[in-house]
Amino acid sequence: MERKVYLDNAATTMVRPEVVETMNKYYTELYGNPSSIYEFGQKAKKALGSARETVAGIINADTDEIYFTGSGSEADNWAIKGVAEKYCSKGKHIITSKIEHHAILHSCEYLEKNGFEVTYLEVDEYGMISLDDLKAAIKEETILITIMFANNEIGTIEPVREIGAIAKENNIFFHTDAVQAFGHIPIDVEEMNIDLLSASAHKINGPKGVGMLYIKKGIRLENLIHGGAQERKMRAGTENVPGIMGFAKAVEIAGKTMDESIEKMTVLRDRFMKLIPERIDNAKLNGHPVKRLPGNVNFSFEFIEGESLLLYLDMDGISGSSGSACTSGALDPSHVLMGIGLAHEIAHGSLRLSLSDFNTEEEVDYTVEKLVNVVDRLRQMSPLYTGRRK
Ligand SMILES: *Cc1c(COP(=O)(O)O)cnc(C)c1O
Repeated sequence: MERKVYLDNAATTMVRPEVVETMNKYYTELYGNPSSIYEFGQKAKKALGSARETVAGIINADTDEIYFTGSGSEADNWAIKGVAEKYCSKGKHIITSKIEHHAILHSCEYLEKNGFEVTYLEVDEYGMISLDDLKAAIKEETILITIMFANNEIGTIEPVREIGAIAKENNIFFHTDAVQAFGHIPIDVEEMNIDLLSASAHKINGPKGVGMLYIKKGIRLENLIHGGAQERKMRAGTENVPGIMGFAKAVEIAGKTMDESIEKMTVLRDRFMKLIPERIDNAKLNGHPVKRLPGNVNFSFEFIEGESLLLYLDMDGISGSSGSACTSGALDPSHVLMGIGLAHEIAHGSLRLSLSDFNTEEEVDYTVEKLVNVVDRLRQMSPLYTGRRK
């Protein structure tokens, strides 16, 4: 049988069987509308309350600070546009970084077209923002700082606690896109002074199309979606009850297994990080060597084209991701890899392998073995490559 090694968990994850089981119950048994007053509806409403409590618990938030959305992207859009609209009389300046997810960057660009000013902070070679740069960027008119918790491509974990302290000191809201960190590593919104936080179910073995925005009590956001009175009149639309219940189940499991999962994935990640440069020359690690997500591995291979690398690995049953995005027919190197200062051709030869706790050491070894062969084969085809096999 052809083997399959899934190493693209930063793109999406397998839905856990326990999560599917929970969701099924809300599709076929407890399918009432939470807005209905009869018992059937009220049961669904009660279930949503318990889901909110579970999701709040894992980031040390209050139950009524959690608002369910249709995706992580929606949560990001809402946080940025919602603050911008509500607080524009106070100022029209927003601070973010150059390596945010497109849900953040494109929301900021949208606001720029509507009279807002956005500062895009540079990052260092590891993808880390500078706290001094952040402080220097703050102005009288700054209403929001939005910096991701951990980067989806290179895994770098930003100094969130310090950013939160700076935001608080300056009376500016702090939003963090925590989609890659939520449920994977510890987050405490209280301790870290986080005012707004986005998360998504499908990055933690939950269903696609469900996200949430944590909004600290006292902060008022303009609605993104208008309509009925769902989500305390803040986000209209009949609740995706099965999706939300699945999200909560995934959070419950993530919470219980977090320590163990971090330990396990770190061992696998470090195995990749040791073996790849040992076995392949001109391999450069992208992202921070230590302050990185337990499940993220990202390497650039000189003289290689990332897309070809992916196609060859796919033939060996390995799913990874490259550092290029096909935008409008052309292959553009990712803004994140450009942001950390990689040359075009190096950025093009990048590979992200992202783990889940379903991966095994044996899969790591299999992948490294195949990677060594594929990189070698591709390099032999490259006129620029003069090195020899290690
Ligand atoms: C996946 C991802 C998102 C988008 O979440 P969706 O639920 O897929 O819309 C946003 N930010 C980061 C960092 C992500 O990794």
